[in-house]
Amino acid sequence: MNIPFLDLARINAPYMESLAKATEAVVRSGRYIGGEACAAFEQALGALCAGLPTVGVSNGLDAISLIFRALIAQGRLAPGDRVLVPANTYIASFLAVSHAGLVPVAVDADPRTMNMDTVRAAMAAEADPRVRAVLTVHLYGRPCWDKTLAECARRHNLAVVEDNAQAIGATASVPGFNGSATTGTLGHAAAFSFYPTKNIGALGDAGAVVTADATLADTVRALANYGSDTRYHNIYQGFNCRLDPIQAAALGAKLPHLAQINGRRRQIAGLYNRLIDNPFVTKPAIEHPDGAVWHQYVVRVHERDAFRAHLAGHGIGTDVHYPVPAHLQPCYRGLSHGPLPEAEELCRTVVSLPVGEYLGDREVEYISRVINTFRP
Ligand SMILES: *Cc1c(COP(=O)(O)O)cnc(C)c1O
Repeated sequence: MNIPFLDLARINAPYMESLAKATEAVVRSGRYIGGEACAAFEQALGALCAGLPTVGVSNGLDAISLIFRALIAQGRLAPGDRVLVPANTYIASFLAVSHAGLVPVAVDADPRTMNMDTVRAAMAAEADPRVRAVLTVHLYGRPCWDKTLAECARRHNLAVVEDNAQAIGATASVPGFNGSATTGTLGHAAAFSFYPTKNIGALGDAGAVVTADATLADTVRALANYGSDTRYHNIYQGFNCRLDPIQAAALGAKLPHLAQINGRRRQIAGLYNRLIDNPFVTKPAIEHPDGAVWHQYVVRVHERDAFRAHLAGHGIGTDVHYPVPAHLQPCYRGLSHGPLPEAEELCRTVVSLPVGEYLGDREVEYISRVINTFRP
């Protein structure tokens, strides 16, 4: 068998006709900035997020950055404030904080969840009064939200921003309540990415901001449109970070299938967890009920290169998310941080397996069998 890590053409094949129809309608409309496609997509995404105000933007990086800039414009944050960020996230989480004039504070990972260690996050907020916000990243589609983080945010009055780029449609249990909520509705505002590899991917770059604060939503919309609230009236020195209507139309064609896409990914993760049985391979823990949407299915292997070569030799593609943490990147030379041993160990050992919703059980069984024959 030949199973690439991710086949985007295969991801989009089921939507070929609806994608063509939706994007053609934009071309025929003669309106290529904003318009009906963007409004309809914002409406549809908002409906998935408890009906909250939603603003389509250019990409996920800009979505996070615009949220922080809007919080600064509102006076909720000030330039130079510290923001807790998980050390093992994608670099965009850090860059978005920096671009807004804030300072990322890297928090070590919990090796069990591979998300931010919320106890360490609380300690970092306790230790430094300059920490005014937390960017919780639902890495690999697994929610990072618990009682410790919620209480820490409340006690220190932190702005809570979600990096929901990898977790559209995930559900997290809400501390203090007898229920769960969808990620993207847990804090003050949430950023979404529709980069083509994400669970709902566009045909290029796209993103969105969801927030319960309608004023914050208006500020994000203005900032993303040259800082203009009405035409030729600029209240901020803003940016051009608008959602492209061609992308909005494509996303509108795919979004109705979110539950099915995430459901299949959840099944695949469950299959892997049942079938992979190798003492040299550590599987991710699955919560019950499973609120994750498995943007990545990530195992840990000390002999990672040999493991990846073994799979490649059997026609199976893998990837690494991510090999170098932000604080060890050249662009963050000089960023002050404490010891981050768990995050660094994860970056050395994580391997992402194919988890595209198009995979059949036979393919997942084959991959699991090959994994079980791996010996370092
Ligand atoms: C993809 C991603 C982003 C950035 O989104 P883009 O649309 O690629 O700019 C930010 N954070 C995380 C965790 C991501 O996975």
